[in-house]
Amino acid sequence: MASKTYRICTLPGDGIGPEIIAEAKRLLEAVGTACDVEFACEDQLIGGAAIDATREAGEDVSALPPATLAAAEAADAVLLAAVGGPKWNDTRPGAVRPEQGLLAIRKNLGLYLNLRPVRVYEALRDASPLREDRLDGVDLLIVRELTGGLYFGEHRREHGVEGAGVAGAAGDKAVDTMEYSEYEIERVIRWAYEAAARRDGIVTSVDKANVLETSRLWREVNHRLNEEYPDVEGEDMLVDNCAMQLVANPSQFDVLVTENTFGDILSDEASMLTGSLGMLASASLGTGTALYEPSHGSAPDIAGKGIANPIAQILSVELMLRYSFQMDDAADDVAGAVEDVLNAGWRTADLADDDTPEDKRLSTSQMGDKII
Ligand code: ATP
Ligand code: MG
Repeated sequence: MASKTYRICTLPGDGIGPEIIAEAKRLLEAVGTACDVEFACEDQLIGGAAIDATREAGEDVSALPPATLAAAEAADAVLLAAVGGPKWNDTRPGAVRPEQGLLAIRKNLGLYLNLRPVRVYEALRDASPLREDRLDGVDLLIVRELTGGLYFGEHRREHGVEGAGVAGAAGDKAVDTMEYSEYEIERVIRWAYEAAARRDGIVTSVDKANVLETSRLWREVNHRLNEEYPDVEGEDMLVDNCAMQLVANPSQFDVLVTENTFGDILSDEASMLTGSLGMLASASLGTGTALYEPSHGSAPDIAGKGIANPIAQILSVELMLRYSFQMDDAADDVAGAVEDVLNAGWRTADLADDDTPEDKRLSTSQMGDKII
């Protein structure tokens, strides 16, 4: 008997989802055996798979059935693969879409913070659009606020507004509001300081305080927390400057923390440093069960072929071990195994190029085997 049992709600979803999550589950089993912990995984439906199943059963058609949400709430962590695909691309009003399942589960679990680690693998440097020497020492963690700001403000359209049209005529006016409370800001920035204290000890708080009131509040909170964490070096950076620094000098960053919209943009920018979508994982944390997933989508074009790259999914397990179970040594081992396998030249199809020898090319499950 293992000394401890963790319950994990696994959500294979659609496309390559079932193939890549299978490798993550095998890895969890191996980690469990090595660490005397049991990871009890239970599959639930989400996305297109849930839409099909609820329709067939004659239930309310849903991308997040109540049983799935209940299982996620009761679990110690949620491991998601990916949702969506052309089969469910119904754009008619009122149609249920797979992506709704994703938004609904994040909202219901109160996940207010999204993490995306960006690491450059020595073996994959060629894939980066950046000059080699700029990639030295790139290892950053982006902390994005996830439930506030523009995304959740007021979205309003006014029609026939005097002077809003062309040449002084009446026209439309659109309004989006950006709101943040001190509380919403503090819980995210505090998390960043705690994380930095366990990493390289630098927090870069990104804002637009020269223009936005929400950013001035953001900056005040950052300064207050900076004093609470004397061992962490805290700095402010304007978002336009940060966008530039991410490509000019990315190795200066350790933990980068920012509000929802800025984080959306900067995390996609930063992910391209690695040059490879199949290598990035993310974690969403908050008041409820944390959720871990690869950054890529369901890749319907290669689904069912056994060729998908399982590494982003496997690195989402690394994040789970680290942030939900405080198993940092095991998490480091998983990250190290991925690095070793890449250094040894093993490649799934998406990572291979013309120079990759035939005997170094791996299927999804073979890549899982190597890492395990
Ligand atoms: P979403 O809207 O869900 O983010 P997307 O349209 O951005 O999806 P993805 O599903 O991420 O697209 O796929 C983009 C491309 O990358 C596709 O050609 C896909 O095959 C490839 N791809 C994505 N993930 C992987 C993976 N794990 N292994 C190999 N190829 C992948
Ligand atoms: Mg996408």
